[in-house]
Amino acid sequence: MTDTVIEIHGKKVLLLEHAIEHDVLPDPCSTDIWVINHSDEWLVRRFLRRIVRSKNIKIYLKPVFLQKEFKKFYATKDNHLKYLSDGYIKGLDIIEKIPLIEQISFFVSKYADKRNYENFTENDFFIQKTFDYYYTRKKRITPVLKHKSLTGYSYPRIETYFYNNREAFINSRMLLQEAFTNNWLTRHYVDTSHLCHKCSSGFLNYREICPKCSHHNLKASNLIHHFRCAYVGVEKDFIFKDKMVCPKCSSELRNLGVDYDRPGKIFNCKNKKCQHEFQDAPVGVHCVDCETEQAPHELVVRKIYEYEITAQGMKIGLHL
Ligand SMILES: [Zn+2]
Ligand SMILES: [Zn+2]
Ligand SMILES: [Zn+2]
Repeated sequence: MTDTVIEIHGKKVLLLEHAIEHDVLPDPCSTDIWVINHSDEWLVRRFLRRIVRSKNIKIYLKPVFLQKEFKKFYATKDNHLKYLSDGYIKGLDIIEKIPLIEQISFFVSKYADKRNYENFTENDFFIQKTFDYYYTRKKRITPVLKHKSLTGYSYPRIETYFYNNREAFINSRMLLQEAFTNNWLTRHYVDTSHLCHKCSSGFLNYREICPKCSHHNLKASNLIHHFRCAYVGVEKDFIFKDKMVCPKCSSELRNLGVDYDRPGKIFNCKNKKCQHEFQDAPVGVHCVDCETEQAPHELVVRKIYEYEITAQGMKIGLHL
């Protein structure tokens, strides 16, 4: 079975359906544009990854569009299909995309012969195709929030070159850092993230812990300070029927700020062997991925940037 080809505004448009189901890449030379014509998000993602991972410039630079009509089937929270494609079109209306399609086609015909990847190291190949893609798309390399990524931020297209989350995180950051250090990319600050010092995960659970035994099952009680007699005690000792009465001097407390205030909390460690009572609870961080316990100061602080190709990057990264 072959997929349907239609002609729109003089361009040959391939409507991809069987190719997606069978996970085979069509001949890139016989059509100008590929349009995803399938509603299964998982199959579409698998196919788009295959395009992004291709070593053939005619494939990894192919203009590939998703259809708005299918968007409702892809609408999960982590839908990053659009970052692995050239985005959505509606009703097969490609007229606005024609200048882009022609630029890409010109670029591919000019540089296809110069992309002989057998002579490239793997790293050079990744840099080359990243530059080819972002240069032809006139786009910045933008980080996006992604729940399933290791750190919470992802560079979806670049991370797709790699086959597991950790490898994707480490190698994509190294690639961007190397290109930045060589002045091929400039960068713009986006965010700061705190990561597990052992596995770089950003999926962390912060909670107060006992300073003596590090247990995190604590009982917190509000403290009350009675101004008149200067007594300080836990709130429950002041409750008498529906009133608040000082356990030391027996007078009633009526107004917060006038009769009494709340100077803070007191914690009791619920570890039976410890039962430590303390006022300042340190925060402990538990990594959900590798289960390492760590203090906040041990976390790795990483800045997240958006990158843009520089004039030097165009010359060297693209071998123009
Ligand atoms: Zn304790
Ligand atoms: Zn009192
Ligand atoms: Zn970890």
